[in-house]
Parts: sequence; C-alpha cells; structure tokens
Amino acid sequence: MTIAIHGLNVARGIAIGRAVLVVSSRLDVAHYFIQPQEVDAELDRVRAARDAVAEELERLRASVSQLKRDEAPHELAGLLEVHLMLLQDEALSDGVRHWIADRLYNAEWALTSQLEVVARQFDEMEDEYLRERKADLEQVVERILRQMKGTAAVLAPPPPPPRKTPLEAGDDADGFDAPLVLIAHDLSPADMVQFKKSVFAGFVTDVGGRTSHTAIVARSMDIPAVVGARVASQLVRQDDWVIIDGDAGVVIVDPSPIILAEYGFKQRQGELERERLWRLRHRPAVTLDGERIELLANIEMPEDTAAAMQAGAQGVGLFRSEFLFMGREARHLTRLPDEEEQYEAYRRAVEGMQGMPVTIRTIDIGADKPLDGKAARQEYLNPALGLRAIRWSLSEPAMFLAQLRAILRAAAHGPVNLLIPMLAHAREIRQTLVFIDKARAELQARGDTAGPVRLGAMIEVPAAALSLSVFLKHFDFLSIGTNDLIQYTLAIDRADESVAHLYDASHPAVLRLVAQTIAEARRLGKGVSVCGEMAGDVHFTRLLLGLGLRSFSMHPSQILTVKQEVLRADAGKLADWARQVVESDDPAELLGR
Ligand code: PEP
Ligand code: MG
Repeated sequence: MTIAIHGLNVARGIAIGRAVLVVSSRLDVAHYFIQPQEVDAELDRVRAARDAVAEELERLRASVSQLKRDEAPHELAGLLEVHLMLLQDEALSDGVRHWIADRLYNAEWALTSQLEVVARQFDEMEDEYLRERKADLEQVVERILRQMKGTAAVLAPPPPPPRKTPLEAGDDADGFDAPLVLIAHDLSPADMVQFKKSVFAGFVTDVGGRTSHTAIVARSMDIPAVVGARVASQLVRQDDWVIIDGDAGVVIVDPSPIILAEYGFKQRQGELERERLWRLRHRPAVTLDGERIELLANIEMPEDTAAAMQAGAQGVGLFRSEFLFMGREARHLTRLPDEEEQYEAYRRAVEGMQGMPVTIRTIDIGADKPLDGKAARQEYLNPALGLRAIRWSLSEPAMFLAQLRAILRAAAHGPVNLLIPMLAHAREIRQTLVFIDKARAELQARGDTAGPVRLGAMIEVPAAALSLSVFLKHFDFLSIGTNDLIQYTLAIDRADESVAHLYDASHPAVLRLVAQTIAEARRLGKGVSVCGEMAGDVHFTRLLLGLGLRSFSMHPSQILTVKQEVLRADAGKLADWARQVVESDDPAELLGR
C-alpha cells in the first residue's frame, strides 16, 4: 500500500530506489559496503562471533544449573535457553547471510538490519510472551556484535559496485541492481561522510532540522534528501521501493505505477534543468550592473575540492576541518589526526584549488558533531551551548597548536585563510591570537616553513554580531555563519525537527544582524562573506546582494543556481528594497516566501 510521509526538504531533486535501512538503535555500529571478494571473510566473522557467544551461553547455563534454587532466579536457566535458541534461529542467520552476500553490507550492518526485520515480526505477534522475546533477541545480537568488535578487516571501505538507473532497473525483481536510497532514524555527520563515497541516490532521516549537520552533508552529496520525516524508518522496510521528493519534502513508500511514472517524468525534467545550469560553469558571476560576485565552495574533505573546481568555484570559503576528526572508528583509524596527517589533508585541499584561496576553519567539534564515542547530547544537557568550536580548541592547547601548525605549513603551498569558529568574547580573540603566534614560533624554531594567512572570524553568535568593532580590529575578514546565528538568535536547536517550524532565516532579528555585519565590515574595508546555508539559498541571493554582500560560500552543488540568480540581478537597484526588507516587521512577505 502506498504511503506518503512528510518531512523537511533539505536537498533538491527526485530519487527513486530500493530502501536501505540503517537502523539506529542503542546498537551503534559502522555501516559500509564490502567488496564481493570479502563476502566469505565477513560471513566467517559472524559465524565465529556466534559460536563464541554460544559457548559463552552454554558455560553460563552450566554454571547456573550448579547453583541452588535460592542462589539464582529459577527463570534464569530458561532465559539462557531462549537466548541459545534465538542465537541458532535460521531467520536470523539466513537474513544476515542475505544482507552480506547479496547486498554487500558489512557484518555489523547485516546483523542490525536483520534484527530490525525479525523484531518487526515479533512486534506483530498476538501472543504477548512471544512479543516480549524481542528484547531477548536484541540482547543476543548485542552479544554477537560485542564479540565482533575489533575483528573488522582493516581495509578502508571500498565503493560499492555501480548500480542501474531507475529506468534501466525497471521492474527488476530482486532489485539488486536498482538504485539505493538510504533510510535512517538518524545519521551522524560522520556516518554521512562515510556514505558520501557510496552510490545512494537519495536519503531520508526521521530526525534533524534543515541546517543540522546531517542535512548539510546531505546537501554536499548533491542527492535528494528529506530529514525530520519522524516515522520513516519505522514505516519503510528494507528493500521497499521509495520515492524521495527533495523539493517538496515528501517520501512515498511503495508507490503505484502511476505515481512512479509521474515522478519518473519529474526526475527527467530536473536532469534537463541541471544540464542547462551546467552551461553557466565558466561564466563569471557578474550582476547586470557589473558587480563581480565571488562564489566560493564549502567542503568537508580535501577530495571535495574536485567538485568545487567542477562547479566553477573561485576558492573554498569554508573547509569544515572537524570532518577529519570524526567517524574515524568506521574508517578503522584509532587516533585523532596528528599535525602531519592534517598538514597533508590541508595541503591536498590547497593544491586541489590550483592557486585559488582555501579558507580552513579550525575544528568545530561539539553539539551535533561529537568525536567518536562521545555522544555530546548525553554529555551535556545543552551541547550547542557547551564546549564547542573555539571553546573546545582553547581547552585543548596541544590539539589546537597542532592544527594551527598544520594549517600554517599548508599555507606555504598556496593562499590560505585561517577562520575561527564561534568566537564571542574579546578574551577568546586574544587567546586565539596568542596561540597562532605560538604555533608560528614553534614552526620557526623547528626550521619548518610557514606561509602567510589572512585571519578571519566567524560571526555566528549574536554577541559577536553585536560587538563587531573588536572583531574588525583584529581580523582581516568576517564570515557570517547564518546556521548558528539563526540557532542562537532565535534559541532554536538547529538539529531538532520538533522546533524546525520556528527556525526562520527571515526573522527580522536575524536579518538585522546579518545586514549590520555586512555594512560594518564594508565600512572598514574588511572582507565579509556568508558561509551558512543562507548563502546557497536562492530565496536570499537578491537580498544579500542588495545588502552589499559580494562573497558567498556554499556547497558546490548550489553554486550554479546561485550564479543564475546573480546574473539576473541588478545589485544597485536592489539596495533600497533590501533596506526595506530588513526594516520590515514581516520580511518573509517582502521576500515572497
Ligand atoms: C554556520 O553556522 O552557519 C556555519 C557555516 O558553520 P556550521 O554549519 O559548520 O556550524
Ligand atoms: Mg557554525
């Protein structure tokens, strides 16, 4: 039966494919595709872990049977019996084999996928006793997963084999060759980076807001995506056919042939539009009245510079360096990146941009971007207000200095801007500058070459936007992080879908802070750009141009759409209108939103 689920549209376009469900539970496991030749080894890992658990349970059962009646609850032996039965259950082992052999899931992912399938069967049972066995099954799977820890192959996850397009797949009965769409309760930004190397045609999560980091990475993958779809991961089953309408924020499960045909048509229209935009790649971004506009790229990894170059970016306006630090367990890396590893990554980004500037932001860890094994949400009640970004760096001097040294060394290979996130206090600015000087002095003492950098501050906390003079005194340029500026101005958690309707980029308070920052920076002849999602949202292009913004940084996939808007705009004529929008009590109305 066809069902439609509504969520938030975070990345445009239509995707049609078979569902790959990533169950997020307390069983937090790595998800990646293996290569066909690794199937046997992966099956062996599961078998070995299962045998070890069986032995462990047998041992426990034997020791329980030695105990006197009052030393152990009499149900215990029975429970161990049930666990042993579940462990040997064919529904579990056959399913796991299917996900590994047919779908090339890694063993842990296969186990949790099959757990989900069997758990749903338990949920549907009439008999309460049997229904309750679901918890036992979860415990058994947990035991197997624990046994498997540390036994994964030490290879980086390879890309999966190419898939057919929806049209080529047709009615393909087993769907193995059909495009895949990812459905998850939640995905960490680190998971997303992992999936970036995969061939998913689209993705859906139950949770998340429009500018949550998961949504941001999704946008950078340039595939249709819907977040905040609340129940999607409960309603969709592995292998269901799913349509993701990233324009409307709708997910259609098990569509009828008529709906499929209609969306197939829309999908082709979208492809034609992209081809048309592609032709703008080499056109300079100049407004009708001759204003040259800088369109820069936001990247997460050095490899992303390829997409930035392809889209005709004039540099990198934001390299979110924290992505080098996240999701390392899944990549089988045991420690955080040291100076050398970071230097290599930054140098690759600098070289990738072939002489164009690269803005490297120092680590912005915390809030919804925790380091491995540190669920920020559990550590702090309000992670977004906690030890995040520059606050974290200043509390970890050795790590901060290593990162600064790596960036300064990379700056010897091409133009680099050093950008500091989330500053609010003059004291933090002073401390940061001392660290930068110290890093430079350390390099000099070592005889290493450091390049020159332009220094920038992110304006993403209202306190910063309201005390610009201290920032303009110390920095060469400002970069407005509208994602956080909106979050902190309106007190709306950007990752929480339950308040997503209140997350409003066109709120007068937000627009006034943005307008003021642009005006002040320009007045003092300092550079200013916007690197939050607002920069890539065409609904705001004319407004930002009218406010005097001449530098926009966004995902490579958004550059051409924004360029099209720039080419059609007369920046001079937009100034009066932009002032009216910012002074209005209802800017959304004037923006036609
Ligand atoms: C922002 O806050 O707008 C920004 C660009 O930084 P991030 O999204 O990484 O927090
Ligand atoms: Mg930010």
